[in-house]
Amino acid sequence: DRQLSNRVQAIKPSPTLAVTNKAAELRAAGQDIIGLGAGEPDFDTPDHIKEAAIEAIRSGQTKYTAVDGTPALKSAIIDKFKRDNGLDYEANQILVSSGGKQSFFNLALATLNPGDEVVIPAPYWVSYPDMVKVAEGTPVILETSADTRFKITPEQLENAITEKTRLFVINSPSNPSGMAYSLEELQAIGAVLEKHPDIMIATDDMYEPILWTGRPFANIVNATPSLKDRTFVLNGVSKAYSMTGWRIGYAAGPADMIGSMKKIQSQSTSNPASISQAAAQAALEGSQDCVGEMVSAFRERHDWLVDALNELPGVECLKGDGTFYAFPSFQAVIDARDDVDTDVELAELLLKEAGVALVPGSAFGCPGHMRLSFATGLDTLKNAVSRLATALG
Ligand code: PLP
Repeated sequence: DRQLSNRVQAIKPSPTLAVTNKAAELRAAGQDIIGLGAGEPDFDTPDHIKEAAIEAIRSGQTKYTAVDGTPALKSAIIDKFKRDNGLDYEANQILVSSGGKQSFFNLALATLNPGDEVVIPAPYWVSYPDMVKVAEGTPVILETSADTRFKITPEQLENAITEKTRLFVINSPSNPSGMAYSLEELQAIGAVLEKHPDIMIATDDMYEPILWTGRPFANIVNATPSLKDRTFVLNGVSKAYSMTGWRIGYAAGPADMIGSMKKIQSQSTSNPASISQAAAQAALEGSQDCVGEMVSAFRERHDWLVDALNELPGVECLKGDGTFYAFPSFQAVIDARDDVDTDVELAELLLKEAGVALVPGSAFGCPGHMRLSFATGLDTLKNAVSRLATALG
């Protein structure tokens, strides 16, 4: 046997990508599969963004850029933080990367030593724990349930903190729960963190605009400004502008740490694609109408889907605050059936028998649930739910 690193043996491939691949395989084999597994908007990237990329190619912006992003894109990001979030950053506090995924990866590699603990609320984005493990840190998972709308309490955080806690991760609106923390909830969590000045914080704001609470978006720095000099704000264009394939994410934070993340990036991928950077700049600087249009479509589908899911026997689904995911409990279905014991087995059964691809909640550290992406047309959703209804009897 070839020897593998401990690092790679500690992790698994992304389960959400695995479901998408499995669905694609079955489809290629001729089966009629509805994929509700994917974590990307179904809309095309808006035209003005594509045009900016085409123009970048024509004008020769096809070479290496600065590792941390072009000055023009960084300036658009600084303006975005000021305009949308009321946050002031200098250019040396911004790092542009190849997707939000790389932003978090850089952060983990630049901040963690073996054994450092990272507190991660569940259900979590599948990649946080595994990226922490690649960096030889230890994920500490905080479990939640529908009772708290899948949000942690300040007491939970306080009880999880040890001398080894190095980083706390918060993602709101959340993939997969669709829930957002209110300003007051963030203030209460911020008050705990104020008592522990050595802990750094990562707020993953990737779904920022996809929110329908009627209240403005807020992150932990808005709630507790004293945390700013130890908080990384992670964001990107993938979800908001339907630009998943372009691979642009960005991080803002303390200059010394951002510099360390840049050093890691300089020895791994260098700059993100020059053409994608021009496109991201156009996304951030251009009209935001395209975002509003996508968000209202997501909301309409959400409202329909949550009601429809609650009509399925054994399925319970809370209304979400945003994103394009619903996260219903299928526990009663699992309990009632003899042919499945876990959400993973139920997801496999639904893929085989209903031809619907869902991601089991265990992938997100929250068994008994399923994540359904509604980044797909209403007709497809209706078809999927009626197939689920048949399969569930
Ligand atoms: N953060 C969250 C919560 C996500 O759901 C995703 C994508 O699934 C990302 C970050 C990373 O996005 P990307 O690397 O595609 O920019």
